[in-house]
Amino acid sequence: MSEEVRGLAERYGYRPYMVSRYLEILKDFREVEEMLRAFEKRLRPVVRCNTLKLPNCQELTERLARLGFLLRNIEWCSEAYEVVKEPEKPSLGSTHEYLTGLYYLYRGKASLIPPITLEPTKEDDVVDLAAAPGGKTTHMAQIMRNEGLIVALEPNKERIKILRNNVERLGVKNTVLIKLDGREVSKVFKNTFTKALLDAPCTGEGIIMIDPARKTKTSLEDLVRHHEKQKELLRNALDSLKSGGRILYTTCSIAPEENELVLSEVLKERDDVDVVSLEAPVRLAPPVMDYYGIHVDDRVRRCGRTYPHIHEMEGFFICLMKLK
Ligand code: SAM
Repeated sequence: MSEEVRGLAERYGYRPYMVSRYLEILKDFREVEEMLRAFEKRLRPVVRCNTLKLPNCQELTERLARLGFLLRNIEWCSEAYEVVKEPEKPSLGSTHEYLTGLYYLYRGKASLIPPITLEPTKEDDVVDLAAAPGGKTTHMAQIMRNEGLIVALEPNKERIKILRNNVERLGVKNTVLIKLDGREVSKVFKNTFTKALLDAPCTGEGIIMIDPARKTKTSLEDLVRHHEKQKELLRNALDSLKSGGRILYTTCSIAPEENELVLSEVLKERDDVDVVSLEAPVRLAPPVMDYYGIHVDDRVRRCGRTYPHIHEMEGFFICLMKLK
C-alpha cells in the first residue's frame, strides 16, 4: 500500500485497506479523494408522499410548509421531495402527517431507485427478500397501487416489528409479512414469483455520510462473510422466480466484493440468467469489471452504480436480471 493511500486513510479516518480498494475501484487518486470528501457531507432527508393515503401530493407539501418545512421535488420521482429546510420543531419523524402515514422518510434519495427500476405492477407476485424497515416494500406497494401481491421477508424479530408498523402506518394492503431467512425462500416458494427484490444485507460502505462509524467498523473477515451470505441469498432469490421472472439486486455499498463479485460468481454457475440493460431514473456510473486481477462476468457490464461525489446521494449498486 502506498504512503499516499495510507495518508488519505488517516486524514479521513478510514481503515487503510478500504481506501486502498477505492483506488482499485476508481483507478484515480484524485477521484478517490473527491469521494471521501463527498462522504463528509450531510445528505438532505427525503420524503416520499404516500399516494396510497394522499393522492394529491401538493397537499402534503403545503401542510409541511405550514409547519416550516421547505420541500423540493426530485425531478426523477414525482412523489418524492428533498427537505431543504426544517424547523427546530417538530422533527420529520414526529409530525401528525408522518404518524398518520402520509409520507415515508428516507435519509437519502438512492433508496427510491430500486423499486422504480424493478417496475412492479398489479399483475405481479413480488418477493422482497430483505424487507425491514420497509422503505422499498411500501414504495413497491405504492407503485402497484396496493394491488397484486408482495411477500416481504425479514428474519430479525425486532426489525420485522418496525416493518409491520411501517406497512400498517402507510395503509399497505397487498403485502404479507413472513419471518424467514431469505436463504430459505426457495425451499418454501420454488418457481413462484414474477419479480424479486434483493436489497441485500451489507456493510453499508455506501452510506458512510449517514453512519461515519462504518469508516472503521468492517474488517476484511466481515466483508467475506457478507459476500458469502449475499451469494446464498441471490441463489435463493433466483430459484424462487418463475421462468421469465425479474430480480433486482441492490446494496447500499460500493464494495465490489458485495456487488459485482457476488453477481459474477453466481452468474458463472448458471446459464439461465440474463442481466437486463437498466432503465434507471438516473444516469448510473458503470460497474467495476476488473478488480485486483479478477475479470468479472461480462453480463455484469449492464449493472450500475451511484456515487456520492457524482450523484450527490448514497453509494448504491443496482442490477436487474431476468430468468430465462
Ligand atoms: N429493503 C429494506 C428497506 O428498503 O427498508 C432495507 C433492507 S436492509 C439493507 C437489509 C435487511 O436484511 C435487514 O433488515 C436485515 O435484518 C435483513 N437480513 C439480514 N440477514 C438476512 C437474511 N439471511 N435473509 C433476509 N434478510 C436478512
